[in-house]
Amino acid sequence: MISIIVPCYNEQEALPLFHKEVTRVLQEMGESYELLLVNDGSRDSTLDVMRTLAQEDGHVVYLSFSRNFGKEAAMYAGFCNAQGDYVAVMDADLQDPPALLPKMLELLQTGEYDSVATRRVSRAGEPPVRSWFARRFYQLINKISDADIVDGARDFRLMRRSMVDAILSMSEYNRFSKGIFGWVGFRTYWLPFENVERVAGQTKWNFWGLFKYAIDGIIDFSQAPLSVASWFGIGMTFCSILAILFIVVRRLLFGDPVAGWASTICVIILIGGLQLFCLGIIGQYIAKIYLETKHRPHFIVAESNRKDAALIR
Ligand code: UDP
Ligand code: MG
Repeated sequence: MISIIVPCYNEQEALPLFHKEVTRVLQEMGESYELLLVNDGSRDSTLDVMRTLAQEDGHVVYLSFSRNFGKEAAMYAGFCNAQGDYVAVMDADLQDPPALLPKMLELLQTGEYDSVATRRVSRAGEPPVRSWFARRFYQLINKISDADIVDGARDFRLMRRSMVDAILSMSEYNRFSKGIFGWVGFRTYWLPFENVERVAGQTKWNFWGLFKYAIDGIIDFSQAPLSVASWFGIGMTFCSILAILFIVVRRLLFGDPVAGWASTICVIILIGGLQLFCLGIIGQYIAKIYLETKHRPHFIVAESNRKDAALIR
């Protein structure tokens, strides 16, 4: 059986179109399947659409969150409830073409791979500034972490049960799926495809949101920013030893004329700034630890049409 996980947030227009298209493809494939629609606290009538779909189509299972928990939580809820031998994550806006599914399944069934992931080879229709930042992000995170992430990687991938279980064993609160998929390893085939525009509705991501998401990804999967703080500290200490030697020697040779107010202020401001910067980095990690140690649930399901669904986890 194939489980398709679909995180949905305000997708009332796109969801029926998605359901139609994915059903067509899955029926053609002739495999048994379930569609796990996760309503991530939508403010429009997405939940009504889900209820209707579930009434009309026995393949549809929906989970409706008590509020908006974010796409990561929605995917996690999907993984917790997926019963298939193969599990896929797909966006509701048809930006992850269902037409790729037969090819992905075929690749898995050769037995050579444990997961087939997709990546966009073009970024057509995206603002150039965003593409530029996205590229730098992928370069950076690959350099400083062991989560191996391909440029243009999407969350859309089909994987075996063994990989899903590995993902479920990573129950961290701060979830960055692109990193988690890479971190668990397994043999992954990367399937390239051309970027597709969303069929209906609006993207939930603005530039600032993506930027913060990128920073979170780096903090979740790398300790490099902490090392930067230490290296700054070591560098500044070394410089100040040189400066002290210089000042002492100058004092002994030339006396102590009152001068250097400007340079003193500059040094104080520079060091103050660096200290706050490094404290900020450490603070970011502490904030993550704080959330992690509270052991709060990732999601709360308020309504579902499946009797034995995992509702809080
Ligand atoms: N999504 C979600 N919760 C959120 C934001 C987004 O479940 O808080 C879902 C959304 O419904 C869609 C997918 O995540 O199915 C990707 O979102 P979107 O298409 O807005 O992102 P983009 O493709 O523009 O990066
Ligand atoms: Mg999208």
